[in-house]
Amino acid sequence: MKCRICGAPAFVKLAAHNTTFCAEHFDAFFLRQVRRTIERFGMLEPDRPVVVAVSGGKDSLAVTHALSRLGYPVEALHIDLGIATGGFSAASLEITEKFCRQNGIVLHLYSLEEEFGRGVEALERGRRPFRSRSICSLCGMTKRHIMNEVALARGAAAVATGHNLDDMATALLANVLRWDGFYLAKTLPVLASEHGFARKVKPLALLSEEEILAYCRLHGIARVEGRCPFARDAKFLRYKALLNDIEQHSPGTKRAFYEGYLGYASLFRDHRQGRSGAPRPCGVCGLPTSSEVCTFCRLWRGAAPAAKPEEG
Ligand code: SF4
Ligand SMILES: [Zn+2]
Ligand SMILES: [Zn+2]
Repeated sequence: MKCRICGAPAFVKLAAHNTTFCAEHFDAFFLRQVRRTIERFGMLEPDRPVVVAVSGGKDSLAVTHALSRLGYPVEALHIDLGIATGGFSAASLEITEKFCRQNGIVLHLYSLEEEFGRGVEALERGRRPFRSRSICSLCGMTKRHIMNEVALARGAAAVATGHNLDDMATALLANVLRWDGFYLAKTLPVLASEHGFARKVKPLALLSEEEILAYCRLHGIARVEGRCPFARDAKFLRYKALLNDIEQHSPGTKRAFYEGYLGYASLFRDHRQGRSGAPRPCGVCGLPTSSEVCTFCRLWRGAAPAAKPEEG
């Protein structure tokens, strides 16, 4: 197998693009795809920081690495979730710290245990007021809140996450199967800054998991091994496996599926507001919420009785 461009021995074969690249030309291809996605969706501004949520997984490390190489003022944010089982949080923190040190990237650490005396695992073990919500739903809300808070405090152009094409296509499939207009309006690579929320961007939204793994291999980016002990979204994994199966038989389907949606996404614009109306500032932290006090402040700060769970 040879590189399509220079004829050197191939480093990677990309079936979806029907091509092979040597290490050097794959690297150029990867960075070009990230840059094009950023420009196409107007994601970032060259002179304003971008806060990247870094978990220690391959996607978040790859996006931080690529944005930094493209010259954006990257600041990593690692949220220590306080998950002791299997040493998950400790390993994630160690990998993230080492990566940022090696690549000269500013790192902000936010520890739930330091801030509130307990982490996500304690929510699962202890008696919690939001019984109707899964641990992942509360954890996701917590992460989104902290990312927003830090991005606004830093005056960042956006919060970036490492979501890749496989994530976007899988989420799209799940949303299409339910025809969920609210989420179909939001399965986008960029969500504008509005109602006091920071802009959210996904610069790897058009790069596949396979391409990201190859980028990590090329640059010797070590990622945290093992999964969070609470990861149980079997449905999401089933949809992902289904798309992988289709992709194997018809390379390029995932990309075509997601690109097709991007062409029609504006049709769902009216559903964006959701069921709870326009947000207003939380009475405690000032960040946007659909009720008097936001879920984050109720859950972590015990700010108000949790009479009626609402969207975070
Ligand atoms: S799997 Fe669930 S609990 Fe674990 S980090 Fe992800 S969202 Fe949080
Ligand atoms: Zn080449
Ligand atoms: Zn609040």
